[in-house]
Amino acid sequence: METPVELGRARSPSAPSGPLTRSEPFHLLAKPTGPICNLDCEYCFFLSKEALYPGDRFRMSDELLDTYLRQFMEANPDGEITIAWQGGEPTLMGVDFFRRAVALAEQYRRPAQQVQHTIQTNGTLLTDEWCDLLAEHRFLVGISIDGPPAVHDRYRVDKRGQPTSTKVLQGLQRLRDHDVDVNVLCTVNAANQDHPLEVYRYFRDDLDLQHIQLIPIVERDNETGFQEGDEVTDRSVDPRAWGAFLCAVFDEWVVRDVGTVFIQMFDAALASWLDLPATICIFRETCGDALALEHNGDLYSCDHFVEPAHLLGNIGHTPMVELLTSPQQVAFGQAKADTLPAYCRSCEVRFACNGECPKNRFTLTPDGEAGLNYLCAGYKAFFTHIDGPMRLMAERLRQGGFADEVMGVLTTAPRNEPCPCGSGRKAKHCHAG
Ligand code: SF4
Ligand code: SF4
Repeated sequence: METPVELGRARSPSAPSGPLTRSEPFHLLAKPTGPICNLDCEYCFFLSKEALYPGDRFRMSDELLDTYLRQFMEANPDGEITIAWQGGEPTLMGVDFFRRAVALAEQYRRPAQQVQHTIQTNGTLLTDEWCDLLAEHRFLVGISIDGPPAVHDRYRVDKRGQPTSTKVLQGLQRLRDHDVDVNVLCTVNAANQDHPLEVYRYFRDDLDLQHIQLIPIVERDNETGFQEGDEVTDRSVDPRAWGAFLCAVFDEWVVRDVGTVFIQMFDAALASWLDLPATICIFRETCGDALALEHNGDLYSCDHFVEPAHLLGNIGHTPMVELLTSPQQVAFGQAKADTLPAYCRSCEVRFACNGECPKNRFTLTPDGEAGLNYLCAGYKAFFTHIDGPMRLMAERLRQGGFADEVMGVLTTAPRNEPCPCGSGRKAKHCHAG
């Protein structure tokens, strides 16, 4: 059994922010079990990362846990701080590890820092003991579900290749029974890309979930190189299907669920239409503020670039804030903007898309320039499609109203008049239909 951490090191109530503190908050995904997971989801890009640490046990030590949380709290400014755990499957560390994490966060936080704990899990190992802890410390739990069981089980299987949906749904129920806040993370892949409403309604109506994250699966056959012409695996989402999926879910959401169902991608888009900074990194102009910490203290530029070329250093040897502000990380962040193809620079929806994540920028633009996002066709279609309703929502908000007023505007428009979304179609053939 692991020894409990010593809580004897007192936190100075007036601990000032100093050279170890950044002026802006940043995100970090900590992976206490590295890529180790009890499941074997076919599309998981992390399982292959085991090769980075041959022979390793993949367990974050208590000493490193202490170092991590001390440095993380020091490096972040006052205000709300999110401590985010991910994997692999972080619950494999056991409940006691997270009890220590919560205690350490409390020990090291400055009085003006408020901590939000989050954990991303496949949900299959959640016990009542787990849920007690998660509820007590108000964790926000992200649970991975790809849709109804037949769809979810297509790729999300255990080590014996068996379906996992029954166990996941039991975990979800347990979270519910303990009143834990839940957010569903749904990957969109070849198996569910053509069933947007089935997937969305399953979350909303059958599982009664109000917070949804949609993540496109883009898997390269050749994960080690970025050679032009690489193909994606047949599990990957098709770019146009990705756009159609988002449009279909948006069309249902915008006439009945605004303000009651929260879809991260739609919230991010609304921020863009309000000229606010993008709320998720993939749509920002630059990267660099979303790091990944491995089980042994190795800090990487981003969760999507856990690979030797993007290793910044180890927080056991170099303070986190030094790695975060290093020339290597600054260059990584700036590269996202600097490598944006001319095709994107002149794109009408660039303000919302910004070429999305560099991980997916491996195709050619129509005029042959390298670095176009594989999902471009989907994003172009989606952001163009939502322009009208987004303008209406942004206008309401700017006038001091509420985004959900858009539902009434769209659905009660005179049926033979042009739809207020600006599509040019009669309302009855558009959102009032
Ligand atoms: S590389 Fe992708 S996931 Fe990482 S910070 Fe940049 S946009 Fe975000
Ligand atoms: S929609 Fe396509 S062209 Fe426009 S910014 Fe995004 S990736 Fe670039």
